[in-house]
Amino acid sequence: MFCFQCEQTAGCSGCTGNAGVCGKSAGTARLQDELTGALIGLARACAGNPKTENTDQIIIDGLFATLTNVNFNDETLRSLIGRVNGEKTIVVPGCSACGSPCKDTENYDMEKLWSDQEDIRSLKSLILFGIRGVAAYAYHAAVLGYTDEEVNNFFYKALSAIAEDWGMEELLPLVMETGKVNLSCMELLDRANTETFGTPAPAEVSLSVEKGPFIVITGHDLYDLKLLLEQTEGKGINVYTHGEMLPAHAYPELKKYAHLKGNFGTAWQNQQKEFADLPAPILFTTNCLMPVKDSYADRVFTTEMVSYPEMVHIGEDKDFTPVIEKALELGGFVEDKEFTGINGGKTVMTGFGHGTVLQAADQVIEAVKGGAIKHFFLVGGCDGARAGRNYYTEFVRQTPADTVVLTLACGKYRFNDLDLGTIGGLPRLMDMGQCNDAYSAIKVAAALAEAFDCGVNELPLSMVLSWYEQKAVCILLTLLHLGIKNIKLGPTLPAFVSPNVLNFLVENYNIAPITTPEEDLKEILAQS
Ligand code: SF4
Repeated sequence: MFCFQCEQTAGCSGCTGNAGVCGKSAGTARLQDELTGALIGLARACAGNPKTENTDQIIIDGLFATLTNVNFNDETLRSLIGRVNGEKTIVVPGCSACGSPCKDTENYDMEKLWSDQEDIRSLKSLILFGIRGVAAYAYHAAVLGYTDEEVNNFFYKALSAIAEDWGMEELLPLVMETGKVNLSCMELLDRANTETFGTPAPAEVSLSVEKGPFIVITGHDLYDLKLLLEQTEGKGINVYTHGEMLPAHAYPELKKYAHLKGNFGTAWQNQQKEFADLPAPILFTTNCLMPVKDSYADRVFTTEMVSYPEMVHIGEDKDFTPVIEKALELGGFVEDKEFTGINGGKTVMTGFGHGTVLQAADQVIEAVKGGAIKHFFLVGGCDGARAGRNYYTEFVRQTPADTVVLTLACGKYRFNDLDLGTIGGLPRLMDMGQCNDAYSAIKVAAALAEAFDCGVNELPLSMVLSWYEQKAVCILLTLLHLGIKNIKLGPTLPAFVSPNVLNFLVENYNIAPITTPEEDLKEILAQS
């Protein structure tokens, strides 16, 4: 096997051998490659032939299934490969029986990519991993009935490019286009979420769990949470968010359910420890699923593209009865149980999306003009297991009292229970939501730039990002597409960025790896 798509890749260079660091077996990795190769074949088949009403969704499903920590199940991957190949025979009927095959629609052998010249491999990997992230966002928007032709059409263009014998001149613009298209996709998902569930408003969320039966739901899909809340209403079962589901508490149409009680646990990489003794089922709606330990294997349920061998999967009918029955059977804690965040806080705040922050725009602008707010930091991104990620806790802890910290995604669990106080009537630490709510950060930055009549790069705003999987890749590409410079990225740089591609990013965007909180803060504030 060869896989180097995430931050924890072996030796910061690539997972090889029998299994990846994430627990993905060599067999599963090969099937994911086969699936990707089939998606490329399908995308190319659609170049001169009309797609069907199902093709977009098949492409989105296939890309989403190959994201890190989503699908470990060879059976479902084989079935997806079958769906993709089946769709191709519908798009180009008779192709397989053709007497003089042109090979234009052949499934692509991913070995060619992994063994390509390193700069070409790097750029094609940025495109492929980027669209895997975009596909996950497109999936969540689609379940709410929101789709975007520009986004869907780009999947075909990007997948087809991977099979092309192109150089850097052709591939670099496509890398940037991936960022542009992701911006459209995040805007689509923002619209889908806010029009369906209301504009997020600040909410204080308890980290403790009340006695009695409960269900923990994790991942990004707010629609799954909505359906679960409906199906558990009046049944004496409480629901707790976990990981990236935390921002759900800010949406009026979800918050209105009294049995949506709080948030259980910390970041995803602690799940094997935190779920071990949990007297409740856990429903995974997206990444990040880790290999399931025997200690809680009877309590894990998956849905959507998430799948793990032998775990109960909730299918398209979205009948959560098995999860509900398991919650009642386990019964929950006998007494109310107090939990804290990793810094000892008992509650966390969320809900500072663009709707809330821009409502307070005048207040923020006055605070900046009057000197009360000297600098904004966006400290966000994914969390992960690699040592060195406490950089982000220390960075936030050490930010001066006249600065604001905006955050998003699951990297915030390193510091979201810290009490940083208030500034200009607003909390100093504001959680904007899930990783896709990077769209909120972009909107706020653009509004500030307009108010101060300058470019985003001239604002007293610094981005200190943590990455782990492929959604972080597409968000980074969006920031680059917008021309945002001086991003600090950690805890390590992507293995798939070759030295030449890195030079390009440094020369054009001044992107830099994180160093120490002290040094980085000193450097940023000296320029502020
Ligand atoms: Fe390795 Fe990450 Fe690929 Fe898993 S997803 S095999 S950890 S690079």
